[in-house]
Amino acid sequence: MMRVEEISRRGFLAAGAASVALVGVGGFGAVTKQADAAFVRPPGAASGAELVASCDRCQKCLQACPYGIVTPVPLAESLVAYGTPTIAYEHGFCDFCMKCVDACPTGALAYGGLAERDMGVAVVVRDACVAWDWAGCTVCKEECPVEGAITLDEQDRPVVHPDYCDGCGKCEQVCPSASLRAYDASVENKGIVVVSRASVAAHASGSIGSEELQTGRFARAGEALAPHTKGVHPDGPDATREAGGAA
Ligand code: SF4
Ligand code: SF4
Ligand code: SF4
Repeated sequence: MMRVEEISRRGFLAAGAASVALVGVGGFGAVTKQADAAFVRPPGAASGAELVASCDRCQKCLQACPYGIVTPVPLAESLVAYGTPTIAYEHGFCDFCMKCVDACPTGALAYGGLAERDMGVAVVVRDACVAWDWAGCTVCKEECPVEGAITLDEQDRPVVHPDYCDGCGKCEQVCPSASLRAYDASVENKGIVVVSRASVAAHASGSIGSEELQTGRFARAGEALAPHTKGVHPDGPDATREAGGAA
């Protein structure tokens, strides 16, 4: 099993600044180079280039999501993927209701395949995670709806298991890092965040650094980690499968 490497908050901040600078200096030419970026996508999304080709930017998936977590890729992040759906977990988490898939008229989001119940994978930001940087927080582990996706190590620090995690984002939404550490104004990120599996694979192969892994939830695409095969999300399509319904 591949272990997702935890990343540093300082890397997160540096990468964010670098991205802004990239766009500022290179303009559209710079963002065009990000055509192969791998974003966190709604359930059932075709792989990067396929989704970009099949999505007509109608935004019906955005309108259908009851939690408002589906948002369009901003122009500053990719000219090619501009307007296609990505996920903003700060607004909520995905319970795999599949309303976005039902609303999609083009098949860019569709049933079938492992992506139907896999959006990405959570990674721990060690410098921002209270448990890793200090001690005493197990909120993400307690709130994760998928048994086995987060375990605690011998020092009660969260460890994500990518073969169980489906990228639902509940851990990121409930992470109290910023409020628990409000005394430190430099801490503004979550201690655990969801990124695409392609981003994690690109990081593992060395084609992107830790600094880039977390930038805007996208990175240059590498060969993606396989979606999880073991996690069972209680509200998602798995529940239907478990009950003997349609696969
Ligand atoms: S499956 Fe439901 S909760 Fe998840 S992104 Fe789609 S509409 Fe939103
Ligand atoms: S509903 Fe389908 S075609 Fe429309 S923006 Fe969403 S993914 Fe693209
Ligand atoms: S993204 Fe969802 S399944 Fe994965 S660790 Fe977080 S809460 Fe658990």
